[in-house]
Amino acid sequence: MCTPTFPEGPQLRAALDGIPAYRPGRPAAGADSYKLSSNENPYPPLPGVLERAVAAAGAMNRYPDMACSALFAELADHFGVPVGHIATGTGSVGVAQQLLQATAGPGDEVIYAWRSFEAYPIITQIAGATSVQVPLTADEEHDLDAMADAVTERTRLIFVCNPNNPTGVAIRRAELERFLARVPARVLVVLDEAYREFVDDPEVPDGLGLYRAYPNVCVLRTFSKAYGLAGLRVGFCVAQEPVAAALRKTAVPFGVSQVAQDAAVASLRSGPQLLERVAALVEERRRVHAELTAQGWTVPVSQGNFHWLRLGDATVEFAEACAAAGVTVRPFPGEGVRVTVGEREADDLLLKVAGEFRGRTAG
Ligand SMILES: *Cc1c(COP(=O)(O)O)cnc(C)c1O
Repeated sequence: MCTPTFPEGPQLRAALDGIPAYRPGRPAAGADSYKLSSNENPYPPLPGVLERAVAAAGAMNRYPDMACSALFAELADHFGVPVGHIATGTGSVGVAQQLLQATAGPGDEVIYAWRSFEAYPIITQIAGATSVQVPLTADEEHDLDAMADAVTERTRLIFVCNPNNPTGVAIRRAELERFLARVPARVLVVLDEAYREFVDDPEVPDGLGLYRAYPNVCVLRTFSKAYGLAGLRVGFCVAQEPVAAALRKTAVPFGVSQVAQDAAVASLRSGPQLLERVAALVEERRRVHAELTAQGWTVPVSQGNFHWLRLGDATVEFAEACAAAGVTVRPFPGEGVRVTVGEREADDLLLKVAGEFRGRTAG
């Protein structure tokens, strides 16, 4: 089980060997450079949120409310679900880790599409479980038939990233329901809906409807993207009572700070302003997509706040051209580049680089 990592030093778990290092989006290169590498929200905090956060910060000598009572109550009210069906964590990545701790260990299998969210392989390996990666289709879509075929007696959890990070492609209702009907009830299906607020295709189902229909489905959401609280680390899961209870048991005690809890409550209450911002970003997403398409790029229709450029071997070169122009993007070497929909000036810079790159390489 244990490997000596250095002679006579502390024994570290073998499961950690070879864990792919999480590579955070590179920070913007300089003060006058834009960061389109981490799918963050370009807007400042929603009205009233900063005031609540500052007020909570004044009590930083105290532990936060361990039960997150106010946030749980607000979430339950907002989404119309029982308080007992909610669990929170340090970002939805934190909650995803709790999900794994609650379901899977050595010998167990975790299925997810690939390429998908970077954190899945890492947290699966930390749990000691085995990743079963099912390649996306040629259209950058989840291959749900192949994912259902991949279920074995050892499968404990399936991540379905909808829309998928980094490709932006979303799964529609009929397809997802057909998949859920095939997955045995003993396997937990986690619908990771980090970008749910940006979805404007009415055929893409709200996971909360599916959680109500399928007891083995739970929904992962975050305050990091549409709500713009990435720096505060708070996400949540809506699941049936036993799953939610297990998530609360596996949470880091006091993991969600009072600043984060109060800011999340205030954010949930600023509905109209949130919708305005989301609508503006969705509109900007359309503009960027239309421009890229006009330049000759093939870009999947994205339901998130980002686009995917499948650049293959030109990935790193493109990312470097962006950096040189003052925009940081997220390269996946050999595969493609993910670019966040950001402030208009940042997107314009990106479009300029993309147009020039296209002109150079397509000619
Ligand atoms: C950004 C993202 C998350 C959320 O991360 P947080 O930990 O909540 O900041 C979760 N899932 C996916 C697919 C994401 O892209």
